[in-house]
Amino acid sequence: MPGYDVIVAGGSVSGLLAAREAAAGGLSVAVLEEDSEIGTPEHCGGLVSIAGIRNIGIVPDASAVENTKIARAKILSPSSGFEISAEKQKVMVLDRRAFDKQIAFQAQKLGAEIKVKCAMRSFSKKEDDGPTYIVKTSEGDLVCKYFVDARGVASIIARNREGVLQSAQYEVYAPWIERDTIEVAFDNQRYPGFFAWIIPTAQGSGKVGVAGRGINAASALQSYIDGKGKCSIVRKVYASIWVNGPMENLVSDRMIIVGDAAGQSKPTTAGGIYTCGMGGVLAGRAVAEAARKNDDRLLAQYEKDWRSMFGAEFEKMLLARKLLERLDNKAIDELFSAVPPEKIEEASASGDFDFHSAALAKILGAKSATRMAKALLGNEIRRLIDIS
Ligand SMILES: Cc1cc2nc3c(=O)[nH]c(=O)nc-3n(C[C@H](O)[C@H](O)[C@H](O)COP(=O)(O)OP(=O)(O)OC[C@H]3O[C@@H](n4cnc5c(N)ncnc54)[C@H](O)[C@@H]3O)c2cc1C
Repeated sequence: MPGYDVIVAGGSVSGLLAAREAAAGGLSVAVLEEDSEIGTPEHCGGLVSIAGIRNIGIVPDASAVENTKIARAKILSPSSGFEISAEKQKVMVLDRRAFDKQIAFQAQKLGAEIKVKCAMRSFSKKEDDGPTYIVKTSEGDLVCKYFVDARGVASIIARNREGVLQSAQYEVYAPWIERDTIEVAFDNQRYPGFFAWIIPTAQGSGKVGVAGRGINAASALQSYIDGKGKCSIVRKVYASIWVNGPMENLVSDRMIIVGDAAGQSKPTTAGGIYTCGMGGVLAGRAVAEAARKNDDRLLAQYEKDWRSMFGAEFEKMLLARKLLERLDNKAIDELFSAVPPEKIEEASASGDFDFHSAALAKILGAKSATRMAKALLGNEIRRLIDIS
C-alpha cells in the first residue's frame, strides 16, 4: 500500500495550506481532492483582507485577483441603511479557482502530491507500530502517520446540522453592480439569521448571494435579484455554510481537523479564507514539528495557536449572531435608525475586516442601540460592548 507521512482529505484553502506547511517541514504529503479540478467548482465570494492573505503566506498572482477597488459597503435594513467606508479595511476579491491552484502549486513545489478526482471514502486507525491510518479512497487504499480532515462543511454536517445555513450565490452581469461597492442586506424574513450580499468583481459584474436558516436559497436569491433590475446570470452555485464557530477537540491521536470542517469560518459572515487558511497553516506546522521531534503531544499546539488568534473574536461574533437571530425586521429597522452618523464614521475608522467585533461594538455602543441590544441579550451584551 502506498504510504505517506501525512494525508490531507480536501484540496481547498485549508487542506492545501496544511499540505504546504507539512511538506515544507520535510514530510511526504498527499492531498486528496474529490472534485476533478482544484478550485472548481468555486463556492466562495472571494472577499478577504489583504493582511489575512499576507499572514497565510501568499501574494496572489494577477490571475487570482478580481478586484482591489472596494471603497465602501452599503449596509441595508428592510427599509433604511447606511454606508461605511471600506478604505481602512483593505480588502480584495479573489478568484478562488486561480487562488487555490496557486496554493496547490506552492505545496507541490515543496514536495506535496496533489491528487484530483480522488475521494476519501473512510479512514481507520491501525493498531500496530507502523503507519497509523488506513485511508480508503476512490483510487485505492493508502496509509499514513497523520491524517488531516479538510473536507469543508460536508465533514461537519455528518456530526452537527445546527449551525448549517443554506446559501446560493450567482455570478451576475448587471448595470446595478458598482465595482467599488459591497452590499449587505439584512431582512430576517427573507434571510433569517444571515443576509443577502453583492461582491463586485468589476464594474457591472459580481457575485450575488443569499443565505439563511431553513430558506429556499435559490428562490430567495432570485427575488433579491429581481428586485434589483435587469441582469444576466452566468453561473449558479449552491452550498452550505457553517456559522456556529469552532468545534471542540480538533486534534485526537494523529487526526487533525482544519478549516470549515473544524468550524473555523466567521460566525457573522461565514468568511473563512483567512481563518480557515490559518487553521491549515498552523496544523501543517504542528504536524511537521511533532514529526521532527517525534512527539505527538506537540500536535495540540495547533488548536492552542488557532484559538489564541481567533477564539476571543469568534466568541464575540457568536454573540453578534445571537443578537441578529433575535431581531425581527421592525427591530432591525429601529436598530439602524438608532445609530448616529458619527458612530458609523467611528466604526469605519476603527475597521479591521478580520476582527470586526470592535466596529460592531462601536455601532451598538450608540445609546439607544445599546438599550435595544441589552433588551435582547441581557447582561451578555457586556461581552460585546463596554457598558458602564
Ligand atoms: C456562497 C459562499 C460564499 C463565500 N464567500 C466567502 C468570502 O467572500 N470570503 C471568505 O473569506 N469566505 C467565503 N466563504 C467561505 C469560504 O469559501 C470557506 O470558509 C473556505 O473555502 C473554507 O476552506 P476549506 O478548505 O476549509 O473548505 P472548502 O473550501 O469547503 O473545501 C473542502 C474541500 O474538500 C473536498 N472534499 C470534500 N469531501 C471530500 C472527500 N471525501 N474526499 C476528498 N475531498 C473532499 C471538497 O471538494 C473541497 O474542495 C464563502 C462560502 C460560501 C459557501
